[in-house]
Amino acid sequence: MTPDAEFGYELLVCRYAELSWHPSDGARPAIVSRQLGTQERRWDTVVIEVDPAAFAARRAFGERTIDSDLLHVVRHAPADWAWYRDALPHPGYPWRYVRQAVHRAAGRDLIEKRRRNNRIQLRRKRPYPDWVERIVAIENKPDLDRSAAAALADQLEHDVETALADEAWLATETTGERVEPALLRAMPVEAGILATDFSAGVDGDAADVAWHPSDLSPAGRGARDAETETRRLEIAERAYGKGWRSFHETMRPDCRHFELRRDGRAVVPYCAAKTKRPTARECAGACPSFAPEPPQWRTKGWPIEGGPGKGLKRTLDRRRERERDRVTDDGGDG
Ligand code: SF4
Repeated sequence: MTPDAEFGYELLVCRYAELSWHPSDGARPAIVSRQLGTQERRWDTVVIEVDPAAFAARRAFGERTIDSDLLHVVRHAPADWAWYRDALPHPGYPWRYVRQAVHRAAGRDLIEKRRRNNRIQLRRKRPYPDWVERIVAIENKPDLDRSAAAALADQLEHDVETALADEAWLATETTGERVEPALLRAMPVEAGILATDFSAGVDGDAADVAWHPSDLSPAGRGARDAETETRRLEIAERAYGKGWRSFHETMRPDCRHFELRRDGRAVVPYCAAKTKRPTARECAGACPSFAPEPPQWRTKGWPIEGGPGKGLKRTLDRRRERERDRVTDDGGDG
């Protein structure tokens, strides 16, 4: 869970990454998400660098995440009809769950299935592409102090050890100041440091590299094992389906006070009642200032699609699609 103070900062870092990834190595096509990881480690911001052609092929499977059970089916579905138990590797859990996943995958049009001699057969509609190039984790700490630096150092050490990510960064707000050298020294040398200045809003120049990261990928030490590759792909799939604008799923865009406002080139939540950017925690079911959209908002001018809350969700979804288009069309430039 993101501490409250970091929520708004995190959205700005996500938008910055979307606008100008990679901070030091030139443009790389990438998608951005937040609050993802494994049971042991949750990353604030996740950047998935992609191969644009393969990413376009991934988009042909639809806009939703392909979860781990479905991935097992979709990645191994054969070109020709075959009984699913012959075609797929043993999953390490009972086959009946695989059978359910085959039905689910067919229901989402990810594969084809049919029944022959009382057996479920499947075949692929298209190969699942190798679309993930690199995975980058960013820790967001707008107010970096000694204790935060120590805690972060532990987390980043974990990233360096597991090599689940190819690169790890710390993003911290500096408002034009230098990052204090003592705090820099407390960080693992492998982690990059991104010094942000969002005082004038977000754009592609709103951060400087205070320390360059090392490559954490195990090149030279042998490729990652299959299990790690699968975990990485699961993270990438969740990032693809979720993006970073999914805050509307946990916040209250159906509240009459909820707005989206520009902050430089980012669009972030704003609460008209509290006259500030609400945190994810306060803009929730228990908010004492919550007021539902008046019914007439839903019937006047929004007769079918629902009121402004639904409109805000559509706006955010459209922006996510636009970013996916950009990555597919021009490899992420601009
Ligand atoms: S009043 Fe509460 S629920 Fe409504 S937008 Fe503001 S923080 Fe969110």
